[in-house]
Amino acid sequence: MSSGNRIAVAGCYICNVPATKCCSKCSIAKYCSREHQLQDWKEHKKNCQIFEVKVLPIVGRSLVAKRNIEAGEVIIDELPLFTGESSSASSSSPLFVFIYTCVLMMNIPYVPGGKYVARCICILRCLWLKRNEPEKWKHVVSMESHAETRRHLQPEFWRMNQNNIVQFIRYYLKFHDMTDVDEAEIHDLCGIWNTNAFDVRNAGIENLRGLFQPLSHTLARRSHLEFSKIFFCHCQRCEDPTEFGTFMTAWKCQACDDGRLIISDANDPNSDWVCYDCKNKVESSTVKDIEQKVKTHFAQLGKTAQEMEAFLEKFSRIMLPTTSYAIQIKYALMELLPSDENDQIEIQKKEDICKELLNLMNVLCPGLTRVRAMICVQLGRCQRQFATLLGSNEKNAQVAAQSKLLSSREFLEEALNILIKEPEGTHFYDLGKQIQAELVEINDTLAHHIILENCTTTGGV
Ligand SMILES: [Zn+2]
Ligand SMILES: [Zn+2]
Ligand SMILES: [Zn+2]
Ligand SMILES: [Zn+2]
Repeated sequence: MSSGNRIAVAGCYICNVPATKCCSKCSIAKYCSREHQLQDWKEHKKNCQIFEVKVLPIVGRSLVAKRNIEAGEVIIDELPLFTGESSSASSSSPLFVFIYTCVLMMNIPYVPGGKYVARCICILRCLWLKRNEPEKWKHVVSMESHAETRRHLQPEFWRMNQNNIVQFIRYYLKFHDMTDVDEAEIHDLCGIWNTNAFDVRNAGIENLRGLFQPLSHTLARRSHLEFSKIFFCHCQRCEDPTEFGTFMTAWKCQACDDGRLIISDANDPNSDWVCYDCKNKVESSTVKDIEQKVKTHFAQLGKTAQEMEAFLEKFSRIMLPTTSYAIQIKYALMELLPSDENDQIEIQKKEDICKELLNLMNVLCPGLTRVRAMICVQLGRCQRQFATLLGSNEKNAQVAAQSKLLSSREFLEEALNILIKEPEGTHFYDLGKQIQAELVEINDTLAHHIILENCTTTGGV
């Protein structure tokens, strides 16, 4: 066994027995002994440290890949300085209550901080490092906080932290008489958390392209990054007005049939918009009005499938099927439309949406993302329902059903391969367990099909 571009392995790279040593450069390659590490080095050095830490002019300190990284490849394997729950994440690990102050806080019946409790816990964990793990604390405070920039450019962010986190920690938790914690320090920690924290999975992280709202359009992604990470994104996708040919930041041209209106200069929000197909020009203010109108309605959109379908219909004269608002609605519809529907047309509708979204993800985010997992789950279930509807009474239907089941298995396995990396106790982990059970059922049905087939064949002879 040699070290190629591997997915996380717990045993020694050479002999697979439980490993006690690891490569000091990347911490990823594991070995049982020095001998096996030396033996593997010639092979491993090609993949050791597939990224470098660089300080770049726009994004600051960041990881830069030294070569293309494959989906699922482990790029970092180390313990985080501290962990905590993100209050905005749809799902993350349950809180690990291991610091006495957290236990105290969890028992408080009324918490003025409300949804900021999760953030307070993170900050307290960080302060705990200051007292108990000075080496780790040094690492934490060496990180970028953008505290001053935030204070001047985002006064609402600063006030929010002042009222909900600083005051809470200082006065409610009575840290005010502790001389080693001051307010500026807590603000710094809030900034450090916002700038540097990222979503950790059991096995590695997604790349940047996948991390930030892959289904939203360039303006939204850029303003999100500008607010949370304090930089203006110049990645390939943001710089390309067609967004790799997906036309997610495009509107319908009114001068030709189904023409795609895109901004002429992605880096200048005031530049004209041009039809990609008929070259008709439109002023930026006109497009801004259109966007504002759709955005307002989008924000008030109801939660039912009917309301969503009505929205798509209502704006179909200005919105393309690829416009990010339409895509986000289709993503919601994908989850809302039932997959145990007995009407073939309804299942087909759901399957079409899933396939469109999967194609989009293949272009925008080919890595192992949650969005991809959710699409594969729904697609796999659609295929299985098709198989059920086909039945097994007639030979041709049976063959068709079998091929649907095989494709269902393929999609569900792809989803499971992503969900299996989620931490235990989360919604995504539970979904993975459910998919595992569904796969067992599918395999049973497939085995049954094969037995039936063999019976018919032998019967014929
Ligand atoms: Zn070994
Ligand atoms: Zn290494
Ligand atoms: Zn970007
Ligand atoms: Zn046009």
